[in-house]
Amino acid sequence: MSNRRNWLKQTSLGIAGLGIIPFEGFAIPTKEDLTEERTVGPIRLRSNENPYGPSELARKAMSDRIHDSNRYNWELYDELIGRIAEKHALTDQHIVLGAGSSEILNLAALYCSKRTGNLIIAATTFDYWTITAENAGLSKIAIPLTADKKHDLAAMLNAIDADTRLVYICNPNNPTGTICGSDALVNFITEATKRTKVLVDEAYLDYTDQPSLANLVAENKNIIVAKTFSKIYGLAGSRIGYALAHPETIQEMNQLQFSANGSVSIASASGAIASLKDSKFVAATILLNAAARKYTIEQLELLQIRCIPSHTNFVYFSLENYRKDFFEQLKKDNILGTKIYEETGKWSRITIGTMQEMKQFIKAL
Ligand code: PLP
Repeated sequence: MSNRRNWLKQTSLGIAGLGIIPFEGFAIPTKEDLTEERTVGPIRLRSNENPYGPSELARKAMSDRIHDSNRYNWELYDELIGRIAEKHALTDQHIVLGAGSSEILNLAALYCSKRTGNLIIAATTFDYWTITAENAGLSKIAIPLTADKKHDLAAMLNAIDADTRLVYICNPNNPTGTICGSDALVNFITEATKRTKVLVDEAYLDYTDQPSLANLVAENKNIIVAKTFSKIYGLAGSRIGYALAHPETIQEMNQLQFSANGSVSIASASGAIASLKDSKFVAATILLNAAARKYTIEQLELLQIRCIPSHTNFVYFSLENYRKDFFEQLKKDNILGTKIYEETGKWSRITIGTMQEMKQFIKAL
């Protein structure tokens, strides 16, 4: 049975490749697709993906390019790097591409581990990648968040010592959805980078109206800004992200890649180039996300579930007052949530899906 399914899949791909019939998987979404539920299978509220993406332009660009996948295409990566440079008013030398910003975080970890020492990070934050830094010899110093679940920048600054090789700031923070104000963050970076390197992860910044710290990398060799196409651009499965840093830092990061900028497929690169042009899709995502997030927070609070104000496409909430088995309730309705991030207060996170998905989530509770 599964062989037959595979055969059918391969055959339809092959036929599509010949341009005989359109391959359904790449159908260009209509306006309705942006608001209607398209998911078959579980409702995925686990990994902070964009439920509306990829954008129409990105789908078309990827589908047009798929036929060229038999060739290497370094020029396309150069074009993408050029577009990213333009977006951030930097030069091509300030950019390195990766297969998602996960690769970028990994590269930054390796780059900063060239000399052993420590890595300062908030608890709780996005820390899966720190295993690379620890394996490369850095020890982790976790600084608790403030009571309102924000980065404690003063405590993080205080924790820097002669052995600190890297400080990680996820802004906005995953899983809490909180944000550091621009001025406070710039002041922190100005001070911290006199003594060590700072990695700022802007995976969710596009959901806010706060500016990127991209402009700091031109002058400051000690800041790395990680960005991704996985969230606002809806390209999580395409695996594409990048870092912005000083050219000397980029050169060193390139040397840690097997092939500089080479882990990106041409379909992903063309999807990313097209995404950068699709400002309508970005604007629609921001609006739809904000409406579904507002609904979710209001409804959770009606259920006595305390929420942290969110600047992202997910919400952090306390299950302390929730009397049922949260995860069992989700499971019954085939909804994928995450886990308990902090036992004290029973804090968990839910990704904001479409309005329809969030209504199903609330109904399940
Ligand atoms: N940074 C943060 C804060 C994330 O939440 C994620 C994924 O959820 C990533 C980086 C990695 O994303 P990707 O590798 O898809 O770019």
